[in-house]
Amino acid sequence: MSGAGAYADQTRRLRTTSAGQLAALQSGQLPPPEAVADKVWAIAAPIPEGSVTYTLSYVLVSADSTSFSILDPGWDSPENLDSLRRSLGLIGLALEGLSTVVATHHHPDHLGIASTLKAMTGARVVLSGIERAVLTYQLSPGLRNPASYTRVLEAWGVPKARRAELVAAFARTPDFSDIEPDVLLADGDVLDLDGHSLTAVATPGHTGGHLCFADNDRGLLYSGDHILPQIHSGFGLGALPGDQPLPDYLTSLQSLRRFAAHEVLPGHEFRFLGLDARAAEISVHQLRRTLRIADLLPELGDAPVWDYARLLHGPGWSRLSGFFLHAALRQTEMHLDLARSPHLAELLAPFPALRPPEAASAGSAD
Ligand SMILES: [Zn+2]
Repeated sequence: MSGAGAYADQTRRLRTTSAGQLAALQSGQLPPPEAVADKVWAIAAPIPEGSVTYTLSYVLVSADSTSFSILDPGWDSPENLDSLRRSLGLIGLALEGLSTVVATHHHPDHLGIASTLKAMTGARVVLSGIERAVLTYQLSPGLRNPASYTRVLEAWGVPKARRAELVAAFARTPDFSDIEPDVLLADGDVLDLDGHSLTAVATPGHTGGHLCFADNDRGLLYSGDHILPQIHSGFGLGALPGDQPLPDYLTSLQSLRRFAAHEVLPGHEFRFLGLDARAAEISVHQLRRTLRIADLLPELGDAPVWDYARLLHGPGWSRLSGFFLHAALRQTEMHLDLARSPHLAELLAPFPALRPPEAASAGSAD
C-alpha cells in the first residue's frame, strides 16, 4: 500500500495488552480489576441485558492517592453499584473518595449511573457540551412521535404491513434519563484530574458529541465506543438534526491517527495496541458498504431506502424486524447519503485498495 496519507499497513493486526480481559470476554465473565498504568485501573461494570456483558470503566487515582475519578461508570443498576463498590475495595479505594465522573458519551452503559454517583458522593460530572445537547434532544417528547415517524417510514418506502412493528419499536421509552453535567468540554480542552491530564478529542459519529480522551503523559487513549477491538459499535446512535454521522465517524477515525502509538482503553471488550490498524479496518468495513450502495445507484436511482436496504442485506433481510429493521433502514439511508455525496472521494483517499464508485462492477464481500 502506498501513497501520501494511505495507511501504511492495513494487514497488521491489533494485539491485546490484557490477556485477562481477553480471557474474560471469551468466557463470558467480568474481568477482575487490573492496573493499566501508574494510578490507572480498569474495572468491569456489568450490563443487565444484550449481547455485550460489561462496560470497561477506568479509575484514575489522584497524585496523593486520597481521591479518584471514574471514566464511564456504566449502567444505573443496583448490580453495577455493588460491583463498583467491590471493585474499588479490591484496589484499596472506597466510593466516598470519588471526586469526578467523566463520560465519553450519553449512552446508558457509559453515563448511566453518573447521576446516582453524583447524588451519593457529590462528585462532579463531566460531559461534552455537544453530547449534552444530544442527550436533551434524545429525550425530547416530540422525537418519538408516532405520526412524524410514520412519515419517515413512508419516505423510506416501508410497506404498510411492516409499519406498525417499527412504530412500536421506535416509540418506546428511552432507557436513559437526563442529567445536569457540572463541566462541559469541547474538542481540545484539557481536563486536569490531579495527576491525570486528559485532552478531550471530539470524535463524532457513534453519537454526535462523543469524546475520546488522550493521556499523552502515559500514552493512553480512552476511546469509549468510538473504537472497539472487535465489535462494530456503529454510528448515528444519537445525533442532532442536520448531523452527518457516517462522514463524521470516518473523519473521526482518521483524526485519531496522531495517537497511533497510544494504548487504546476502549469502553468494552479489551485494551489493545494497534489503533491505526483497527481504525483502518473499521473504516474499510463501512466504506465497502457505502460502495455497495453506490454500485446500486445506476439501477435503483431514486428508489426509496427500503429497496436499497433489501438488496444490500440479501437473504438475511426477511429475518430483520422491529428495532433491527429500523436500524438497518437508518444505516442504509446514511450510506446512501454518503454514496451520493461529493465527500465520498476524499473519505476513500486513504484507502487506495477500495476503488472509486465509477469503477464499480460488483458488490464486495463484507
Ligand atoms: Zn457502549
